[in-house]
Amino acid sequence: MNSSSIPIIGRLAPSPTGAQHVGNARTYVIAWLASRTKNGIIHLRIEDIDSPRIKKGADIQAVQDLKWLGIDWDHEILVQSTRITHYEDALEFLKSKELVYPCTCTRNDVLRAASAPHEDGQDTAYPGICAYRSAKDTLDLLDKNFCWRFRCPRKEPDFIDQFKGPIIGKEVTPPNDFVVWRQICNNSSRLSSPSYQLAVVIDDAFQKVNQVVRGDDLVSSTPRQLCIYKSLNLIAPDFIHLPLVVGEDCRRLAKRHGDTRLAALREHGVKPENLLGLIAYSCGWLEKPTPICLRELTTLFDLKKIPNTPFVLTNELLKAIGYDV
Ligand code: GLU
Ligand code: ZN
Repeated sequence: MNSSSIPIIGRLAPSPTGAQHVGNARTYVIAWLASRTKNGIIHLRIEDIDSPRIKKGADIQAVQDLKWLGIDWDHEILVQSTRITHYEDALEFLKSKELVYPCTCTRNDVLRAASAPHEDGQDTAYPGICAYRSAKDTLDLLDKNFCWRFRCPRKEPDFIDQFKGPIIGKEVTPPNDFVVWRQICNNSSRLSSPSYQLAVVIDDAFQKVNQVVRGDDLVSSTPRQLCIYKSLNLIAPDFIHLPLVVGEDCRRLAKRHGDTRLAALREHGVKPENLLGLIAYSCGWLEKPTPICLRELTTLFDLKKIPNTPFVLTNELLKAIGYDV
């Protein structure tokens, strides 16, 4: 846990699986402010290991979006796809401790479980069918699709969220063993890659991140990540899980709500100050969505003022910042 003598080390971790939208911008701005207002460090990491879903050019676009907002970061950008050997080392360690087992349940299960579980219903419980296997039981799996599942404790770990307060881990029977690695064999090729849950822990630990700010759709991932931290003897960061931005129908921001991509706002002449004003308003730091720059926001930043309910992005609010489509 972070103590006041250690600088805050935060991070921004866009996935180039699509364009960054207003909701992502809000999280990045808050993550940046939560570190910079305490003279902390911010890393930028591109989480591009979810290869079937990666969109070409979305990484460059994400960097442009952040720069447009005025967000900066320290050190070089870390790109997950360049770090596979580190994730492999972690997997080998988990195998050596019998903390993972090979699972041959269907390809769709494997694919679903390997992405950051943002979508409703994507995070399905695994009933432990393959839990009898040993990590050494892989000889007959060479040409098969399979994944490595982490053996979870029956009781999920508790943690204190710096925004939401104490989160008490559930008691689950059977334990919800989750995917840390997947291997998919097509006729000609073999795709072998770590899951979000494993890669994010290895990289946050590698970058000495001690403050993770992200959307609360990932709050159910945190107990899993805490289990990985513990099993690898790594120190877990503080977590700040923020309510999402939703559309007028109260569902998470998506295409059906119109084009809220930052690139689209930019193309329509919306200034970053306008969007920052909207974000500040959504956080309870401004009474109206009036333009403001990032530097000015450092004097207004207050985590405690952020409402603990999703922020409803209405067309009227978008119009107010000059985005009328
Ligand atoms: N790359 C993840 C995403 O965009 C973020 C994961 C995290 O913040 O832990 O969904
Ligand atoms: Zn299985």
